[in-house]
This record gives sequence, C-alpha cells and structure tokens, in this order.
Amino acid sequence: MKIAIASGKGGTGKTTVSTNLAKYLSEIRQVVLVDLDVEEPNSGLFLKGELVNRQEMYKAIPQWEASTCTLCGNCQKVCNFNSIMKLGDNIMVFPELCHSCYACSELCPTHSLPMTKLKMGELTEYKMDELNFISSKLDIGQEQAVPLIAQTIRYVDERFPDSILKLYDSPPGTSCPVIEATKEADFVLLVTEPTPFGLHDLKLAVETMRELGIGFAVIINRFGIGDAEVEKYCEREGIDLVAKIPNQREIATLYSRGELIYPHIPEFKRELELIADYCNRLQKEMSL
Ligand code: SF4
Ligand code: SF4
Repeated sequence: MKIAIASGKGGTGKTTVSTNLAKYLSEIRQVVLVDLDVEEPNSGLFLKGELVNRQEMYKAIPQWEASTCTLCGNCQKVCNFNSIMKLGDNIMVFPELCHSCYACSELCPTHSLPMTKLKMGELTEYKMDELNFISSKLDIGQEQAVPLIAQTIRYVDERFPDSILKLYDSPPGTSCPVIEATKEADFVLLVTEPTPFGLHDLKLAVETMRELGIGFAVIINRFGIGDAEVEKYCEREGIDLVAKIPNQREIATLYSRGELIYPHIPEFKRELELIADYCNRLQKEMSL
C-alpha cells in the first residue's frame, strides 16, 4: 500500500508527519519512507541510519545528429514542452525543459534524435531497523522534478514488494511534481493549518485529488491557532479529519533541533496513533 503525505503549500508540517509516522509505524512493521520533495528533501534531517545505497540519477534527453536531419521540423511540432526548436538550419534542445517523453526521438523520420543520458540528481537509501528511507535530490541547475520523482518511485517499486507499507513525503503545492508523486498512491493524507491560507490551499489540494480520483483525508497541524473553518469545511464536504496536532512550542523546538517529536510529546503521540490506526484500517479495507 502506498500513502502519500501532501499539502497545498509548504511549511504546513508535512515532513514532521511523514518522518514521525514512518518511524512510529516501523516499531511494529516494515515501512519504506520516500522523500519525493526532490527540490528540497529534508526528511533526512530527522532520520539517521546506515547507508545502503547511493546512486546517480540520469534523465534521457535527445541529442541532435545534424548529418542525417532533413530539417522537417516534426520534432518541434510534437514536443509539448517547447524543449526542442528549429532555429534556421539548427535544431536546439533545451535539456532543462525536457520531460524525457521520447516523442521527438521516436517520431523523427530519420532517427536523428537518439536519446542520451544527462545526470539530474542523486538517490540515497538508508536503513534503520524496520524503516527503509529513500531520498532523491535534484542537482543544482536542474529544473525538472518530475523525471526524478518518477524514477525514484520506480526504484522503490522494484526494490520493495507491494505488501510493504510505503509512505511518500510529496512536494508541496498542486503542480506537476505533486501530481507525479501522488497519482499512483492508494491514498493521500493532506496536511493543513487551521488558518484562512491553510483552508485556501487545502481546497486546491482537495480539487486536485478529486480530479485524480484518489481517496484522501485531512490532518490539521498547529491546531489551536487560527479558526474552525477547516473543520467546518471538512464536515461540509464529508472529508475524514484524521488528527489535530496541537500547536506547541516544544514541537517547534524539537523540529528545529532535527529530532523526532513523538518520543517526547504525549499529545503529539496521541494524534500520531490516530493517524497510524487510520492507515492500518485503510490497509485492511484495501486488502479485502
Ligand atoms: S524530426 Fe528529425 S529530421 Fe525532422 S527536424 Fe527534427 S531532427 Fe531533423
Ligand atoms: S523528449 Fe519529449 S520533452 Fe524532451 S525534447 Fe523530446 S519531445 Fe520534448
């Protein structure tokens, strides 16, 4: 089972929930946590373990072979991302915009665009007891998160059987990277804050999940600040509200020190137990 932890915006506590939930659940079962926020992965700040694997990650980009090209312009027409252009007698490829979809290469009538490898980032895997932790990071200057997210998910799928619970710490927002990270999840936990901004971004995230046809529920972080509008919205929309993590100064202090929260704060642990029970129930229901 794959559960993605996402949020409509950054800074809502998504990583706090992901890392604590993964470690807590791994006390009784094997869990894989995957940090898919490849532009700014930070789950690793809270989880230390033994390094199992480190590898460079590559994406495929077309390389123009002028000698066989007839300058028909087909490659420019089929590229949906404006990453290949015919400029005079030249075909220009813009690797930073390329989504590695292979369309130009496959549809070139003279096979003048073979795909070649370009390094885009690095994947690391750590193990601590029953928790495997995988994180990918884009190289500086690389702008396309989607190919690295897709390859990281493929790495996890090939390495771990379906029976193991996988948690995806997704990128924030509602754009392509979060869609790539959540589209194959069985369920999504949306982390939000009880504020007008939190509600606004939650509504966008809910729309995205509905569009993707993925089941979801909500976790409120920093409960106690703001107002009750997020709770009312969830009630109106029939969305499960799984947990309300209290707004406590000690939680922020532990976070800033790079420590897990639940071993130190009973109120946090109680809410984490609710999330863990919800995940366990989901898994049972889905396996029936
Ligand atoms: S599709 Fe192939 S032959 Fe046509 S312009 Fe592009 S590279 Fe050249
Ligand atoms: S591989 Fe796809 S995205 Fe990249 S240049 Fe070719 S058509 Fe465009």
